[in-house]
Amino acid sequence: MESVCGGNLTVGSNPTLSAINSRRKEGHHESSRHPAMKAIRVHEFGGPEVLRLETVPDLQPGPGQVLVRVRAAGVNPVDTYIRAGQYARMPALPFTPGVDGAGVIESIGAGVAAIAAGERVYFGGTQSGAYAGQALCAEGQVHRLPDRIDFPEGAAIGVPYATAWRALFQRARALPGESVLVHGASGGVGLAAVQIAKAAGLSVLGTAGSAKGRELAGLHGARHVFDHGAAGYLDAVVAATGGRGVDVVLEMLANRNLGKVLKALAPGGRVVLIGSRGTVEIDPRDAMSRDASILGFVLWNASATDLAALYAGLGAGLDNGTLRPVVGRRLPLEQAALAHRAVLEPGACGRIVLLP
Ligand code: NAP
Repeated sequence: MESVCGGNLTVGSNPTLSAINSRRKEGHHESSRHPAMKAIRVHEFGGPEVLRLETVPDLQPGPGQVLVRVRAAGVNPVDTYIRAGQYARMPALPFTPGVDGAGVIESIGAGVAAIAAGERVYFGGTQSGAYAGQALCAEGQVHRLPDRIDFPEGAAIGVPYATAWRALFQRARALPGESVLVHGASGGVGLAAVQIAKAAGLSVLGTAGSAKGRELAGLHGARHVFDHGAAGYLDAVVAATGGRGVDVVLEMLANRNLGKVLKALAPGGRVVLIGSRGTVEIDPRDAMSRDASILGFVLWNASATDLAALYAGLGAGLDNGTLRPVVGRRLPLEQAALAHRAVLEPGACGRIVLLP
């Protein structure tokens, strides 16, 4: 696919999270034989400058674990919240950041049966951190990566695609034929949501703040695209639905938008709160008059059953080519601090990935 964002834009796939607590509880095994693995380490919470490149001992898988040779790691906004010490679930210091990645299984621990050394995988969640040359994962955190999806694309699957799937199907219960506004369609979650919704037969409307982001959302399946920085754009969204409003909103910046999007909902509409960076005032009557639902979630809360279902759905979409992860920028591992600054800047164009 051609780049529309100035970087090496590619399309491919992605996984989930559940690492932080398991990392804290289970620890990980380090080998003293090959002290040669590069990793980004955080010794104190703070700004991007606390991300330090270090050489650390190689890892060894324990029972039920697999060791992945990491070829690319995805950079999610949540990585920055954790690095800054501003998240509900925090790892113990020091730690290696990162939830998402892709690579090759290097070795497996006792009791691992479903996957073997040499297999290409992506992971959504790790027990040792993704910003490194190696990552330890529980067997259930790794998923096979189809051959046509490269490793950077694979690193763009986990959190974004799992979040988008859960928002659309497990929270909003979206149905084919319904309309969905992906409010923030240019980023990792947004582009995943556009692809997933389009493949499921929904009518997709998307927003982005840059012309390149809007072009990308259109390329990946949004039928109508809008500038979320433009005056009156939500009126244009409603007009595009023939005045009825949208059935579902996937909201990336609820603190700014929730009060407004309630007015753009169809009767029986659902708003799923995916991202929020502050508080917001709403008029409850906007929801009441539409029999509307406001649905929050964090991916960490998903049950093993729900995760298994959503990864099965993602696997099917990755296999049949309807899901094509988008990498907007590839940076060497040592530029993790730059990546953490960039992921919070406007003008998103898919996922930023780090290459160890
Ligand atoms: P990302 O790749 O950085 O993308 C951010 C998106 O937000 C971009 O599309 C951006 O558009 C958009 N945005 C900026 N200003 C906006 C506005 N005024 N209205 C609507 N959208 C706006 O981040 P991501 O990985 O997609 O994640 C999106 C959000 O969801 C983040 O806050 C993240 O922390 C959160 N999240 C939550 C969960 C969960 O479990 N609930 C899981 C994953 C992510 P432009 O750059 O084009 O302006």
